[in-house]
Amino acid sequence: MSGERIAVGVDLGGTKILTIAMDAEGKVLGRSLHPTPHEGEDVALHALATSVEEAMRSAGLTQGDVAGVAVGAPGPMDPDAGVLLEPPNLPGCQNLPIRSYLQERLKMDVRVENDANVAAIGEYRFGAGRGVADMVYVTVSTGIGGGVMVAGRLMRGAGRTAGEIGHMVLAHGQEICPCGRSGCWEAICSGTAIAHRAQEAVAAGRASPGLVQAASGQSLAAPVVLQAAAEGDPTAQAILARVVEYNGVGLMNLLHLFSPGMIVIGGGLTHAWDTLIAPAADWAKRNAFQRPAAVCRIVRAELGDMVGAVGAAALALDPDTLL
Ligand SMILES: [Zn+2]
Repeated sequence: MSGERIAVGVDLGGTKILTIAMDAEGKVLGRSLHPTPHEGEDVALHALATSVEEAMRSAGLTQGDVAGVAVGAPGPMDPDAGVLLEPPNLPGCQNLPIRSYLQERLKMDVRVENDANVAAIGEYRFGAGRGVADMVYVTVSTGIGGGVMVAGRLMRGAGRTAGEIGHMVLAHGQEICPCGRSGCWEAICSGTAIAHRAQEAVAAGRASPGLVQAASGQSLAAPVVLQAAAEGDPTAQAILARVVEYNGVGLMNLLHLFSPGMIVIGGGLTHAWDTLIAPAADWAKRNAFQRPAAVCRIVRAELGDMVGAVGAAALALDPDTLL
């Protein structure tokens, strides 16, 4: 395998660890998929190292064949040190020293970066954003996150924390965010937020009969609210109308701040593209400054569940992608 550029990308999620070996054309050569263990620091680090070894073994690679390893993980983190500070989905793993542990054990170069940033790199190099140097990636699922590519590099800022798109404040003093602030994009428009608004409406006796009916016998998750709205339920429709309005405001802010050539939107809620995203994108383009609206395409992400692992491998192949 010598002569080819190959790297390993790890997507460390709250429920699974997906690791791939990938070449410079984006071809996946080997993979490993396991549930994320929740038994503390030692077990988590061991699982990460094992997943890298498995992915390499399944591709017939040894450490000399691989340019490097990168791990995409949820923040907050210190990416320079490669330490997860308080991983929200790994309780009991404060200050998890991923970089030093993996480098010591695997004898390979290891990087650690925010999962939404890594996903942005993935879509930029191998997904919908191929060839678009100025691109913003937004993921809309249980939370909202993103990453900003500027002239072909990931913008990280002085504190290495830039691109917290989901915590852009759109309505200060309104919905409380999991981050502790109020009115963040995530607090208004995430799947979790949609579910909370519906649960509040039912609990307060403000919901229309359709939504109350939908709430009986199942928990009121975002897909239930979407289904109720599609069937004409007025409370569900009112909840989603606010979500569409603020998705539009968020996208307009991105147009004004970055004037990207493309905004790529991924995540679970893009299944409701025509309901939640397309009308918001139209609104943003109609209401934004003309020039940034004219040059930007707003499109669906292409890499699906692979985006984190592909993005991490892309980062390991080309560390200069980081600004
Ligand atoms: Zn927030």
